[in-house]
Amino acid sequence: MHLHAIHGGLALEGHKAASAAGGLRACPPPPRLVLALRQHAGLPARPVVAVGERVARGQVLALPEGSGAPVHAPLAARVLAIEDRPLPGQGAPAVPHLVLEPTGSAEAALLAPLPDDAAPGALRTRIAEAGLVGLGGAGFPTAGKLDAARELVIINGAECEPWISCDDALLRAHAGEVLRGARLLARAAGARRVLLAVEDDMREALAACRAAAAEDGGDIEVVAVPARYPAGGERQLIQALTGREVPRGGLPRDLGIVVFNVGTARAAWRAVALGEPLVERVVTVTGPGVAQPGNFLVPLGTPVSHLVELAGGYTPLARRLLLGGPMMGTALAHDDFPIGKTQHCVLVLGERDLRPATEDMPCIRCGDCASACPARLLPQQLLWQARADRLDDAREQGLPDCIECGCCDLACPSHIPLTETFRRAKGALLARDADAADAAAAKARFEARQQRLEREAAEREARLAARKAAAASPEAVAAALERARARRAAQQNPDEPA
Ligand code: SF4
Ligand code: SF4
Repeated sequence: MHLHAIHGGLALEGHKAASAAGGLRACPPPPRLVLALRQHAGLPARPVVAVGERVARGQVLALPEGSGAPVHAPLAARVLAIEDRPLPGQGAPAVPHLVLEPTGSAEAALLAPLPDDAAPGALRTRIAEAGLVGLGGAGFPTAGKLDAARELVIINGAECEPWISCDDALLRAHAGEVLRGARLLARAAGARRVLLAVEDDMREALAACRAAAAEDGGDIEVVAVPARYPAGGERQLIQALTGREVPRGGLPRDLGIVVFNVGTARAAWRAVALGEPLVERVVTVTGPGVAQPGNFLVPLGTPVSHLVELAGGYTPLARRLLLGGPMMGTALAHDDFPIGKTQHCVLVLGERDLRPATEDMPCIRCGDCASACPARLLPQQLLWQARADRLDDAREQGLPDCIECGCCDLACPSHIPLTETFRRAKGALLARDADAADAAAAKARFEARQQRLEREAAEREARLAARKAAAASPEAVAAALERARARRAAQQNPDEPA
């Protein structure tokens, strides 16, 4: 298949070998599971269990509000608490979490498996009730991406950050399940064509996928894409595979394309064929700061500290703990945070992996950031607009299309923290948009109330006018006289009917 060039990006030194070597390892149940009720884009889910209740594996614990996703019990357990805890990341909000104590029981409450030929609507319903969200990191509820027909489904196995190898491990162990899930997702989306993209340096995974695809009839095309960061970005992958660009401010759906991570595809197959909700995922635990890096199949809600123990514990080199890769990951202040649906890597970096803290210098307008930007943005211009609080101008220039990949930071000779500036500016834009939406909703409510009050007043006036008009007519006067006569007669002869 002919691949198209993508703009920018960087060839980063790979560090996947250490974690990829051991294959996919099991994770024994931790003493506690902690489940955030917001593991997806949208509002937190609403708990439907009580503290003290015993729950079976797969049982619904919380139901979605709006377009979110339900949360299920990863193991049979007892509910210990429902409490607010902060999400990972500096300044991240606190949201309700469920704290569970696994009981060791094998009790499960799975859904009834669906037949192979289930209708697309039934597949979409199953994917929604199984709590599937994008496991690649964005966390969009999967059912929401299947709400309209698409021409092409792309299954994304191009994990491009150095150190992360969870997709590699998953494909080597379960390529057949991923392909079957890809076929189900394509059927649910009404797509005729499915491409599975895998990085060209994931040789064993590529071979496993090609063997599984050939065995299953060869209807899914397995494509090797160059291992260049960030080839696994949704827009970059679409461009590399189809030569088409997602329009600025648009979505892949505008091109009739939908992209799912390989883990999401496998989860879709398990939800349909086995009736298993999303209760586990593969996580890479790696870096020079852990003794035995590896990939683990992890019950959701497992604390990071448990995974670090499984990976042999911290080494003396450990300096920084990240959830995610070195380019787009979130620094953690401690290892008590749990693994959620979108967390694919625990990375413990050493001193020499950290960028030296240097003072940023003035922009010299070299343009290296623009050359490196895979979203074809002009980071130096966005920087100026963000620092001047000219957010509308920055929006015009494509700020919302910044994928926060960090390429511009690495390219910048002046060590300007461009990505962090853009992340904050995007947050400010979102907050401002939310405030504007709130204000518009309040104005609409006020106007609707005013209109209702005016309508009611007009109706009252009309009724009064009608009564006055009726009272003034000869028939009304005659009727009133007749009523008065009847009342008088009744008072004089109380025993006779009036
Ligand atoms: S962080 Fe944003 S601006 Fe910088 S290179 Fe990536 S997409 Fe471009
Ligand atoms: S790379 Fe840095 S110094 Fe060069 S133009 Fe971009 S922001 Fe300015």
